[in-house]
Amino acid sequence: MSSMLLDCGEGTQIQLRKFKLKYGRVDFIFISHLHGDHYFGIMGMISTFHLHKRTRLLTIFGPNGLDEIITVQLKHSNTRLNFPIRFVATNPNQKELILEEKNYRVFSLPLKHRIACTGFIIQEKKEFRKLIKEKLLQKKIEVEAIQSLLRGKDFMDSDGKVLYAAKDYTYPPDPPKTYAFCSDTIYDPDLVPHLKGVTLLYHESTFTEIEAERAKETFHSTARQAGMIAKAAGVHKLLLGHYSTRYVDLTPIMEEARFVFAESYLSIEGERYTVE
Ligand SMILES: [Zn+2]
Repeated sequence: MSSMLLDCGEGTQIQLRKFKLKYGRVDFIFISHLHGDHYFGIMGMISTFHLHKRTRLLTIFGPNGLDEIITVQLKHSNTRLNFPIRFVATNPNQKELILEEKNYRVFSLPLKHRIACTGFIIQEKKEFRKLIKEKLLQKKIEVEAIQSLLRGKDFMDSDGKVLYAAKDYTYPPDPPKTYAFCSDTIYDPDLVPHLKGVTLLYHESTFTEIEAERAKETFHSTARQAGMIAKAAGVHKLLLGHYSTRYVDLTPIMEEARFVFAESYLSIEGERYTVE
């Protein structure tokens, strides 16, 4: 099973080791934008993969220019990697499907920041309906019929007569779980339609409202604004992050977001958060 890494700041490798995360399985790296705190760790990761004799393909999604940055560094250190890198440039102007795997899809989504920037949405694929077990037990239904019912297709005999209708034997699939990652962005209500019904939303909250002016100038958001986006989009949970170093105590950030949106949580390094 492949892992995904969303943004890769300078300390990423150190933290991955500290928290004993197996990063050899990282097959996809997504970089939101080219401010150093979001990507300065990528060359270190690439070098470590090389030292560990990686041969698997690594796919990197990121803004135009990131491929050049990587290539120049490899060129001047005369490094020939043991593994291939595929670079996919993200589009900062519109939402796009950028990756389709067996069990999930990933979209990029435009964010408004000082430079080209995208967020990412990871969406679970829920293609099968749920069987109504009680009904299935009453009859001896062949595997072929079950396979067709799971896909929402009625099962018919060779004359085209419906033997089992999908709506009678199955429930609709659960809504797909989604994780949305909005790294650095000014308060932007245009995001709301893209984030409708998201299960877990990570939205930056660099400042609190006292610094609202500063947030606007630097194209960042306040905790209240993150809460407003979460509320308007009707997400299940909001994860806050990217706190300015001026906040030694993060409680005011959490409280400010919770005042607007009760299901707001601080993201803390090393903690695990489930998408539910
Ligand atoms: Zn930034």
